[in-house]
This record gives sequence, C-alpha cells and structure tokens, in this order.
Amino acid sequence: MTTRKPDTIMAHGGRDPNAHHGFVNVPVHRGSTILFPSVAAWRAAKQPGSDAYMYTRIGNPNSRAFEQTVAALEGGAGAIATCSGLAALSTALSALTSAGDHILVADTVYGPGRAYCEKVLMRMGVEVEFIAPDVGTAIASQVKPNTTLVYLEAPGSHSFEMIDLPAVTNAAKAAAADPGRLRVMVDNTWGTPLFFRTFEHGIDVSVHAGTKYMVGHSDVMLGVIVANAATEPEIRRFAHLQGVCASPDDLFLGLRGLRTMGVRLREQSQRGLAIAEWLAARPEVARVRHPALPSDPGHAIWKRDFTGAASLFAIELDGRYDLAATDRFIDSLQYFGLGASWGGFESLVYPGDDLPRAVAPPQPAGRMLRFHIGLEDLDDLKDDLNQALGQMHALSQGADAAE
Ligand SMILES: *Cc1c(COP(=O)(O)O)cnc(C)c1O
Repeated sequence: MTTRKPDTIMAHGGRDPNAHHGFVNVPVHRGSTILFPSVAAWRAAKQPGSDAYMYTRIGNPNSRAFEQTVAALEGGAGAIATCSGLAALSTALSALTSAGDHILVADTVYGPGRAYCEKVLMRMGVEVEFIAPDVGTAIASQVKPNTTLVYLEAPGSHSFEMIDLPAVTNAAKAAAADPGRLRVMVDNTWGTPLFFRTFEHGIDVSVHAGTKYMVGHSDVMLGVIVANAATEPEIRRFAHLQGVCASPDDLFLGLRGLRTMGVRLREQSQRGLAIAEWLAARPEVARVRHPALPSDPGHAIWKRDFTGAASLFAIELDGRYDLAATDRFIDSLQYFGLGASWGGFESLVYPGDDLPRAVAPPQPAGRMLRFHIGLEDLDDLKDDLNQALGQMHALSQGADAAE
C-alpha cells in the first residue's frame, strides 16, 4: 500500500467502512468523553503504544482519519490536526523552540506567523532573525551555534518570491553545530502536499492551512502539521499539552474536501495560470507575480522543485493608477470577492498593502493585489476583469482631465 499514488490516497485514505456498518465515510464522532467497559480496558488503553481513543482532545476517529490521510499524502511520518492554520504554525513553532534559541525566519512568511515569532517567541526568550527570500546557500553565514529552527514559505505570502528550499535547507543543516538539532519547517499551504514534496527535500516539518485547498469550500477553519519521524512525537506531545485540537465536524469536512482536492487543485491551477497570463498582457498591469509564468524571477526554482502551482498570485498595477482608481477596480469586480483566505471554489481579490518586510525588497511603486482563481467560467472572469480595469482607467483619465 506504500506505493499508492496521491489520487488514490485522497480517495481511500482514513476510510474503514467495516468499522462503520459499511458507510463509505467516517461518521462524525461528536463527543468529549469516551467510555470504557471495565477498569482493565481503561488500563490497557493507557498502555504506551495503545491506539485506543482516550479523550477527544487527544484524538478521535475523525482526527485520526484526517491526520493519517494528510500524512500519507505528503509522505510524513505523522500529522497533527489543529483548529486553524495559524494554530498549526504557532504550535509547531513553540514545540520546536526554547529560551536561548536563535531562529531564522524568511522575511516573506505569512504575516500572522511572522507576528507570532516577533510577539510571542521573542517574549519567551527566542532570538528571531529574518532572512531574505533569495538568501540561498548564504544562509550558512547566519546559522549560529544556538540556531534550532529555520521557518520558510515558498512562494512568499502576498509577494510570491520563490525560495530555493532545498539549497537553504541543506546549507543550514550543513552549517549547524548539531545538524540533528536544527530543524527546517515550511509553510506548504501554497505548494500543497501534491505540488511540493516537502520530505523529499530534507525538510522536517510541513505546516498547512487546511482552511485553504484541503477544505476547499470556504466554510471551515482547519490546520495540520505534518512531520518526519524524528520530529513528529515532539510536536504531538507539545500539541497535547497545549490543548490544541480540531472539532470532529470540521475534521469531517476537511477529509471530505481532501477527497476532491486533486481535481479541484489541478483545474484551479490551470485557470489561475490562464488568468495570470491574460493579466500579464494588459497595459494596466505592470507585472504579474506568479512563479509558473516563465517571465517570473522565481520560475526556474519553481519548475525544478514544484509539480504544479496554486491558483493564488499577485499583480502590480501600473504606478499611474492611484489608490482611488485601484479601489474602483476592486469595487467594480463582480465575481471576485474582496476577502481574506483562499483555496475555495470561488475567486477572490485582496490588497497587499503594507506588508511587513525587514530585509526583502520593499513594496513596488504600483499597487499590489492578490488574486485567487476559483472554478467560475474563465471567459466570465476575463469579462469581469476587463470591465473593472476599464472603470479604473476611466477614473484615472477623468482625474487627469481635471488636472
Ligand atoms: C491562511 C494561511 C495561514 C493561516 O491559516 P488559517 O487557517 O487562516 O489560520 C497560514 N499560512 C498561509 C500561507 C496562509 O495563506
């Protein structure tokens, strides 16, 4: 069974119809208490190595089915489900750091994950240093004797710079005083277990906002930490002490999302690229940031390491369009909802204003907008973008004429 391909894992993972009267799906096991028929059974369940369910916070059939499926899909030793993607990030970050440690964090990671490092880990005595997305093997010079964690994400949140994940991982580990103590963690939400094979690149921990493509329908918050055999027990122990868990109802929907993630993702990937190409050809657009476009500076790295692209990318509008004009563009869009998150079936737009950056390139001159492409008809999406770009242009022409 270890040779199962991803699509088969998504269809069959975590299922055991015989344990559920033949029902195809694992039913929702809503509950807190799990009853034992005798003291002897309760004692047996507490034995190390027992896989009996003791209490829902530390596991139930829904969490186990979801976790086993994601771990198998990504090729990790195990997975830990959490109530949100940010909880997965904060749990893994806290599990792997102690006072006196030094950690290296890519400047372009997801904003709240970065804020957790700056606001919580630093308060707990962890030294946090940011690295530029193009650091490559030069990361070696930033590794100190007490560096215990490197936290990366590719492409960067909102700004989409690629990171050479294998080069950074290998160079950081080679420079570590004790290579076993330095762990590399990647937020692989954009790459997904399908498009970036984390554990084949020497990375120890992969974190996902399950909220995005796994759930896929914009109706559940969920997170998951996938880790290798050396790291997973440590994170699981910490997660249990932290009280981190996800609701059985949400896990049921997360696993249901995984059943169709492959087809959704492949379809959205193609549509995302089609819209990115269409936008790149527009005179109102100065640049499209999408690593699957051959013109993108990160394209070679993406092509070497990734087998696909999420339908999430950014554009820079031409600098001649001011805030009022670009706001008009967003407000004129009919099919692109203005809202946070992504990975659902519907298209979204989100302004990338004021990204916190310490060492990465600053914001471009033109306004940057992030697009998520859903499953709407491509021609409808292009028509919508076309009319909204027209409204933006008309407003700026009017402003010019009034000057
Ligand atoms: C959304 C997101 C998260 C956080 O996930 P939530 O479920 O919203 O908490 C983490 N990382 C990335 C890259 C994200 O886009």
